[in-house]
Amino acid sequence: MIDFHQVEKHYGQFHVLKTIDLHVQEGEVVVVVGPSGSGKSTMLRCINRLETITSGGLTVDNITVNDRKTDINKLRKEIGMVFQHFNLYPHKKVIDNITLAPIKVLGLSKVEAEEIAMSYLEKVGIAEKALAYPSQLSGGQQQRVAIARGLAMKPKIMLFDEPTSALDPEMVGEVLDVMRTLANEGMTMVIVTHEMGFAREVADRVIFMDQGQIVEEAEPEQFFASPREERTRTFLSRVL
Ligand code: ADP
Ligand code: MG
Repeated sequence: MIDFHQVEKHYGQFHVLKTIDLHVQEGEVVVVVGPSGSGKSTMLRCINRLETITSGGLTVDNITVNDRKTDINKLRKEIGMVFQHFNLYPHKKVIDNITLAPIKVLGLSKVEAEEIAMSYLEKVGIAEKALAYPSQLSGGQQQRVAIARGLAMKPKIMLFDEPTSALDPEMVGEVLDVMRTLANEGMTMVIVTHEMGFAREVADRVIFMDQGQIVEEAEPEQFFASPREERTRTFLSRVL
């Protein structure tokens, strides 16, 4: 579903991604961990072309991401993305935040889009907030709206970039619960997170990045119990 082949990326002189090879199967849940500045967000953002790669190959569902002929809107329709900061439109009600893209991009009628929006709000457990404004919601609720907004486009892939890092601790669990449900339903997911317990429980595979490289990848059990690389051990000793 996602295929990085020897991807390099530079920001000017700075070599931010170094020979990235990563293959994500349909239905797989890949969790990316690593120190701040290691290139995790950049790698994620390359997948929906929020960043462009310098060289190498990158395909998503057999679409060549960086081909000039690629329809970027078609690519992005397949990919939902949830950020640390929820990026909801503050002047729009929750339901209108969710129906905006399905109406504009997928061409759904308002009624159809609202029906879908309500079904996803139910799924993330906040249907009763449909008519509220984002500022009237807690951080955890806003993040669940952001997830519902992503799902309403019926993407094939969901990307999460530290979705719980900006939340008060008591709200982390409710967002992770929604993500766990999606994982169990077979959604293809790439998740950058510092929640190691969640990674261990939900990931099919854990990727450790450091200084722009994938240093190690393993199934969670092996990754946490007996990491192969010294850099991974050092990182885990700091965060666990
Ligand atoms: P992470 O998500 O692992 O913290 P990032 O992908 O955000 O790492 O950043 C990796 C490195 O690239 C950092 O050193 C960061 O300062 C740098 N960087 C990120 N975005 C840009 C940019 N737009 N221009 C220049 N440097 C950037
Ligand atoms: Mg980041």
